Amino acid sequence: MDSQQFREFGKLAIDFVADFYDSVRERDVLPSVEPGYLSRILPEEAPEEPQDWKKVFEDFKEKILPGVTAWHSPQFHGYFPCGTSFPSIVASLLTDGLGMVGVTWIASPVCTELEVVTLNWLGKLLGLPEEFLNCSPGPGGGVIQGSASEAVLVCLLAAKDKTIRRLKALNEDLDEDQTKIKLVAYTSDQCNSAIEKSGVLGSMKMRLLKADHLGRLRAQTLTEAFEEDKRKGLIPCYVVATLGTTGLCAFDPLEELGPICETENVWLHVDAAYAGAAFLCPEYRYLMEGISYADSFSFNAHKWLLVNLACSPMWVKDSLDLIKAFDVQRIYLNDINLKVKIPDYRHWQLPLGRRFRALKLWMVMKTYGASGLKKHIRNQVNLAQYFAKLVRSDERFLVDPEPSMGLVCIRLVGGDELTRTLLNNLLEKKKLFMVAAFSKGRLIIRIVIGSQFTTHSDVEVTWKLIRDEADNIGA
Ligand code: PLP
Repeated sequence: MDSQQFREFGKLAIDFVADFYDSVRERDVLPSVEPGYLSRILPEEAPEEPQDWKKVFEDFKEKILPGVTAWHSPQFHGYFPCGTSFPSIVASLLTDGLGMVGVTWIASPVCTELEVVTLNWLGKLLGLPEEFLNCSPGPGGGVIQGSASEAVLVCLLAAKDKTIRRLKALNEDLDEDQTKIKLVAYTSDQCNSAIEKSGVLGSMKMRLLKADHLGRLRAQTLTEAFEEDKRKGLIPCYVVATLGTTGLCAFDPLEELGPICETENVWLHVDAAYAGAAFLCPEYRYLMEGISYADSFSFNAHKWLLVNLACSPMWVKDSLDLIKAFDVQRIYLNDINLKVKIPDYRHWQLPLGRRFRALKLWMVMKTYGASGLKKHIRNQVNLAQYFAKLVRSDERFLVDPEPSMGLVCIRLVGGDELTRTLLNNLLEKKKLFMVAAFSKGRLIIRIVIGSQFTTHSDVEVTWKLIRDEADNIGA
C-alpha cells in the first residue's frame, strides 16, 4: 500500500467510524453470531497473495463487523464502560502513524516527557497528594500502565522486593527464598479477578477477606488476618484496596485500612479502575479519604475518562521502590546523560517497549478540558440516579444497594430465580446487555450507564425493555 492508497483507505475508515457512532442506536447490542462463526467463514490459511485494500475493507464489513458487540450503544450496560472519544481515536491513529517505541528518553523524548506532564495534570485534577506527582520534589511519580492488572502486579512485585530489602537490613543472614514464600497479600472477596491473578502471577499467597454487607473491606477484618498470619510465622506484605468494586461499586475505607498498613510496613495499593475518574469531581473525593496512606494508586482512564484502551495511569509515592525491584541494565539501553529529573519508565512497568499512550490522554484532556470531563462524569451519575428512580416506581423491583457512580443494581422482589429468568430473557433478545452479581447473597442485575451518548430517553428505553420483560414473565 502506498501513501496515496493509505490516504484513501484512512479517509474511508474515518468515515466508517463516524457512521458507526452516528448509527449506534440502530444496531442490536449483542451480535447475532454463534460461537465459532468466524472460523467457519474465514480460510484456514493466511492469504499467499496480496489483496486489494478495497476488497479487504469489504471483508471487514461483511465478516468481522457482525461479531462486534455494541459497547457504545446506550443499551450496553455490562461490566464497566469502555472509554472512547473522537479525540482519543485520532490520537491513537497519530500514535500508530508516528510508529515509535519509547524504551528510553532518547528513543523518543516526547514519549517520556508527555507522560510526565499529563500525569502531573491528571494527578492534580484527581486531587492526589502532591507526593505522588512527578513534579513534586520527592521520588513520587506517575506512569501509564496498560491495564489495572499490570499496575496491581507491578506493585505486588515491588512490595515483595521492598519487604525483603527491609528484612534483610534487619538481618543480613536472612534466607531470601525462604522468606519470600512467607509473604502474604490481602484484598477483599469483592476484588476484581485481576487482583487474585496478580497473586498467582507474582507467587504470593493472596487472601480474599470477607467484605462487610456493603461490599467493603473493614479494618477489623484486615487486622485479624494480619494477626492470624503473624502467629503462623507469615509476613503481611501487600494490601489491595478497591475504590469502586466491580460487582457493586463499593469503596473500601482507606482511612481505616491505611493506618494498619502503615504500622505493619505493608504496601497499600489502591485499585480505582472504574471509579477513579470520578475524583475529578471534588464532591466524590470523600470516597478516597485516607489516600495519603497509599503507596500506589491506579485507575483506568480507558474506562470512564473517554480515553481508548489501553491507558491505566498509576502513581507511586516512591518510584525508587520500582527501580530497585526492576532495574535490569543492557548497554543498548543506556540513555544519554539527562541532567534533569526524568523517569526511566522501563523500570516502572512489565514490558520493555512503551507505546505513546500519553498522546491520547493529552488530546482528551485538552479537547474536553477538565470542565468537559467533569460534566461527563456528573451526567452519567445523574442518568444512573434517573434510572434508579424509574425502577423504584415499580414495586416489583428493588434497587439494592444504593446506586453508586454510574451503576444501579436491581432485582425482582419475587426472588433470585425470577431475576435470573429476567436477565436471561433480556440477553436472548439482544437489545440490552448487562451482567449479574451478588449483593447480600441475592442475585442482582448490574445496570451500568456505559455509553457517553446515553440520554434520559435512552434510559427510558432500557427501563421499558426491562419492565416489559418483567410483564412477560409474570413477575
Ligand atoms: N479492578 C477493577 C475494580 C475492575 O473493575 C477491573 C475491570 O473491570 C479491573 C481491576 C481489571 O482491569 P484491567 O482489565 O485493566 O486489568
